[in-house]
Amino acid sequence: MSGTLPALSPAEVQQLTRHWDPESKARAMAEVKARTGKTQQVWYCKRGRHCDGEPHDGAPYQHARADQWPPAGKDWTTWALVGGRGSGKTRSGSEYVRKMSNFVERISMIAPTSAAARDTMIEGESGLIRVFERAGETVHYEPSKKRITFPNGGRGTLFSGEEPDRLRGPQHGLVWLDEPAHISAIDEVWDQMLFGLRLGDRPHSVITTTPLPTKWMKARLADPGTKSSKVSTYANLANLAPNFAQTVLSKYEGTRLGRQELHGEILSDVLGALWQDGIIHRLDSTPELARIVISIDPAGTNNRRSDETGIVAVGKAAGFGYVLEDHSDKYSPTGWAKRAIQTYERLKADAIVVEKNYGGDMVKTTIESTAKDMNTPCPRIIVKTAMRSKQLRAEPIVGLYEQTRVLHVGALHKLEEEMVTWVPGKGDSPNRIDALVWALTDLMGVTSDSSISSPADHAPSIPAQGVPPEVIRRSPGGLHLPPGFARRSFTRA
Ligand SMILES: [Zn+2]
Repeated sequence: MSGTLPALSPAEVQQLTRHWDPESKARAMAEVKARTGKTQQVWYCKRGRHCDGEPHDGAPYQHARADQWPPAGKDWTTWALVGGRGSGKTRSGSEYVRKMSNFVERISMIAPTSAAARDTMIEGESGLIRVFERAGETVHYEPSKKRITFPNGGRGTLFSGEEPDRLRGPQHGLVWLDEPAHISAIDEVWDQMLFGLRLGDRPHSVITTTPLPTKWMKARLADPGTKSSKVSTYANLANLAPNFAQTVLSKYEGTRLGRQELHGEILSDVLGALWQDGIIHRLDSTPELARIVISIDPAGTNNRRSDETGIVAVGKAAGFGYVLEDHSDKYSPTGWAKRAIQTYERLKADAIVVEKNYGGDMVKTTIESTAKDMNTPCPRIIVKTAMRSKQLRAEPIVGLYEQTRVLHVGALHKLEEEMVTWVPGKGDSPNRIDALVWALTDLMGVTSDSSISSPADHAPSIPAQGVPPEVIRRSPGGLHLPPGFARRSFTRA
């Protein structure tokens, strides 16, 4: 190279030298930096964790604010950075990984998809390449190997939350997990990750997440080994493009979504969840039931990521639905059929409701042959055909819950948890919910063809003669069960 080297930016040099060996690449970068006079920027300044991150002597540019420092002390194993849009949580994750790459030889990075890992954690404006570049250092990124080599030779490996199996085996001293709320197999991903988290003095993880209160996230936050920081968009305004700030702030401030997206608050209701806290009501016993059905949604037929089979028993009396039992679990095909038949017999149910799907009549056939093996009469089977999406099927059922026309008998924790955390469009609906929806659709006479755009506006109205006055009385505030008929509002812990 001669003195007429064109003025390339460090990013362009990084791109041009991407196939070079790390040493030559580092030399080229050093040369460019010497020519362009780029200075090394620190992220964690000398003033320490109480700095507000505004430019000052020794760090004349935006840098880490208090909420972007890792938790003090060493009595934690997980640092959860919770923040909404433009809060700087990705930058915080990248900077922490850069810092830790000086001490940890093997770092794993997990994102919901391979593309997200590449675009956000590596190549993004707040990703590792840019973060090292700002610090005057260079990394060697090999997309095909999903690998990034740090200046000291340490290595980072990228994983997709879609492939939890790839996490089987690799060991690491630090894990950076981005957006776990969008990883449907998060439990498996986390378990596999933990098995490999055993290198170095103090293996630990950092999670950067949107404030979606998923079951998994709540468990992490409740774990004594977790320290969390809440990063807000406001604190990060100085780093945001003015038009982004303007658009986003004016759009969301003062709204529920704003509390979540701008202030990083984990709201108790899951935004966008069909069932909200407070619409699921429990009672301790039921009146005499006119009909009972058992509904099955087998694992693997609708939802390739779920290995649970939904089995839910629901009864009906005088226009009200009573969710009686939830036997959803992991089963073999004959296992779920047997469980459903036993429940059918014990509850003296009228039918087993199944969905006809691309498995054809597989569910029906399995029940028939299992009944034969059990030497018991084959239950009556109702086969339902799905004409509409899961969400559209679920909406009228949610409407019934809002009218207190469906009640849970006792606490059905797992089912209820799935109901209040399933957000349509964010992953397939869990099989428990599908089984519940089919059972109630059949029992409550909800027509699956009706066009329903909002559960509150279009839920079927209660026929006056269908309401037993001794059980339910109408009041201006809505429907109320009389005193003595224990009703408790379901509130999540
Ligand atoms: Zn500072």
